Amino acid sequence: MAGGAKSEAAEAKRAKYIAKVRKAYRDGELTCAQADALRAAGVNLDRFQPNKAGVNDLATKRPDLAAEWHPTKNGDLEPSAILAGSHRKFWWRHWCDKTQSWNEWEAAAASRAKGAGCPHCARSSEARIGRQGKIVRCIETGEVYRSCSAAARAVELKNAVSIRRVLLGKQKTAGGLHWVYVDGSGKAGKSE
Ligand SMILES: [Zn+2]
Repeated sequence: MAGGAKSEAAEAKRAKYIAKVRKAYRDGELTCAQADALRAAGVNLDRFQPNKAGVNDLATKRPDLAAEWHPTKNGDLEPSAILAGSHRKFWWRHWCDKTQSWNEWEAAAASRAKGAGCPHCARSSEARIGRQGKIVRCIETGEVYRSCSAAARAVELKNAVSIRRVLLGKQKTAGGLHWVYVDGSGKAGKSE
C-alpha cells in the first residue's frame, strides 16, 4: 500500500514536470538539443508548437521587434532563437524620443507582439506616430536618422521612396538594407 502511494506521488511529480517542460517548449525556451533529449526520454512535445528558425522565430516574424532586441542583456539568446509569441520576458532597447535617450525595459515577446512598447512612450501608438514616426533606424548599421530623407542621403539613395516602401512593408530592403521606425511599430508605417 505504502509503495502504491509512493509511486502515485512520483507519477504526479512527473506529470507536473512534463507540464513544465511542455510550457517551456511552447514558449520557445528550449534548445533543439534539449527538446531532442526530452523526446528521447519519452516526453511527447510534438503536438506543441515548435520554434522553427526561419519560420516562427522573432527575427523572421517581427524584424521590427527584433531591431529592439537588447544587445547584451539577453545573454547568448538571439531573436532568431526565440518564438515570436514567447511568453518569456526579454530585454528590449530603443532610442526613446520622449526621454531623448536609450531606454531599456523587460517585457514578454508576446506582449510586445500585441503592441506593448517602451514604458516611457505614450501608450497610444497613434500618439507615438505623430511625435516620432519619422525617425528611422537602419537595422544593419543601427544608425538612427531623423527622417527617411536624411537616411536616404546618408546611404546615398536617390530619394527616400524605397525606404518608405520598406517601412510600409511593401518591399524588404532599400539600398540593400532593412529599415524600421525607431518606435519599432510596423503600424507606424501604415499610417503614412
Ligand atoms: Zn520610448
